[in-house]
Amino acid sequence: MSVHGLADAELPAPVATIAAPFHVDYTYVAGVGRSVYLRGMAEGRFLARECPGCGQVYFPAPEQCARCLVALLSPSEIPGTGTVSTFCIVNLPFPGQLFTPPYVVGYLNLDGTGTKLMHRIMEVEPERVSVGMAVEPVWAPPEEWEPSLASVRYFRPVDPALRAPLPPGSARGGRDA
Ligand SMILES: [Zn+2]
Repeated sequence: MSVHGLADAELPAPVATIAAPFHVDYTYVAGVGRSVYLRGMAEGRFLARECPGCGQVYFPAPEQCARCLVALLSPSEIPGTGTVSTFCIVNLPFPGQLFTPPYVVGYLNLDGTGTKLMHRIMEVEPERVSVGMAVEPVWAPPEEWEPSLASVRYFRPVDPALRAPLPPGSARGGRDA
């Protein structure tokens, strides 16, 4: 078979990838629901909200319950402790990566909530992280609190026996570690 008179053997190799850099300016609007959580982060507090219909407690909370579509109740503070629901050990580098592998990212069940929060788990050897492990937040110094989850540097095991020193160069344990 031929295309435009060229035999298959004469066709160039297909283009598999192209470099197409582009820049997008955007403004992120958190909305009323997410603003509660973000302002709490700036105050060093975990602010959750409960659905009056089904009782689901959200952190971070949207404006309305995803199940019932009703407005959530006023914010209430939760301690921020929780357990590991699932986790992965990141061993591979990738473009734009903020941290140096290996590091652990977990889905956490915060106590008093029915939702999951994704965050890093540090101060523990990756191979000692387990599902169900109790964790607690490690906050940045108050002068660094901001309306972002970055106010919480990471989570660590509640059990001191599971803890390990932070790796060299990650003393801050934060975004620029
Ligand atoms: Zn509900």
